[in-house]
Amino acid sequence: MNQKRITIAIDGFSACGKSTLAKDLAKRLGYVFIDSGAMYRAAALYCLNHQLIQDGKLDKVGIDSQLSQMDIHFETVVSESHIFLNGQDVSNEIREPKVAEIVSIVSAYKPIREKLVEAQQKMGVLGGIVMDGRDIGSVVFPHAELKLFVTADPEIRVQRRLAEMQSKRIEMSVEEVRQNLAERDHLDSTREESPLIQVADALVLDNSQLTKEEQLDWVLAKVNLLVTN
Ligand code: C5P
Repeated sequence: MNQKRITIAIDGFSACGKSTLAKDLAKRLGYVFIDSGAMYRAAALYCLNHQLIQDGKLDKVGIDSQLSQMDIHFETVVSESHIFLNGQDVSNEIREPKVAEIVSIVSAYKPIREKLVEAQQKMGVLGGIVMDGRDIGSVVFPHAELKLFVTADPEIRVQRRLAEMQSKRIEMSVEEVRQNLAERDHLDSTREESPLIQVADALVLDNSQLTKEEQLDWVLAKVNLLVTN
């Protein structure tokens, strides 16, 4: 029997394990996985590389005139999804603190969001996609069949992000991680343009006490109900 290929939108605060969940789900279901945060990080890296951030502020005139030259896309490299910025694989560089520090300033700018949202919507036209971010259920795929809002205890999120940074050999102290997550969560949920919100039809998943496998099973049970009905 051919099962329906649905759209799964995953939103939530920073370092809640959204991308891990999205990636695991996509793998299990044979769906496309898109980390929309990686796209905003690539846009932020573009702004850094082109000196479009001065004193913590985005040069809006500068980015307006260059936006059409900023190319961000995903490619599969040895069966992993990598992100490319104007032809260069930036998958590792976008995780560095210099990007984390300014990404929420860049992502708050409407023209940047419009460009990236358009690309995200194109990738999801055929369904069979799991996308994670901040505005996926509210703006990118408001009609997604399954919407999840992922949360976790703030201190658990700090420890998880710290472990991720250490595994990537990126140096950041626990205090730097804590501050960066708090700052981004604040900016992302209070900005004017597509703030992070929990939409009314999202299922809330608090994964503070769940293993990766447990949270995957929880979501797969919801997906099964949707695709077999
Ligand atoms: O998901 P991640 O933490 O890598 O996202 C980095 C940043 O990109 C977020 O803090 C937020 O500012 C921005 N973002 C966004 N909308 C999305 C995904 C990410 O504004 N859909």
